[in-house]
Amino acid sequence: MRLHLDSSKCEAHGLCYSRAPQLFDSDDDGNAVLIDAEPSEKDRNFAELCVQTCPEGAITLTEE
Ligand code: SF4
Repeated sequence: MRLHLDSSKCEAHGLCYSRAPQLFDSDDDGNAVLIDAEPSEKDRNFAELCVQTCPEGAITLTEE
């Protein structure tokens, strides 16, 4: 499982890092920063939630 963040799409809504701070942080402007690109299985639900709820479609998840 690999998380991807397209920073060019992020509009700093904050949903990802407020819901899954173990996976995402924010920079000084409120834009998301991916801190765990290879989440463990225990964080799968958090990763999928971030993908589904990012309003900009900036987060994707692939199986690798
Ligand atoms: S939810 Fe999406 S748009 Fe909002 S901070 Fe996270 S990546 Fe950026």
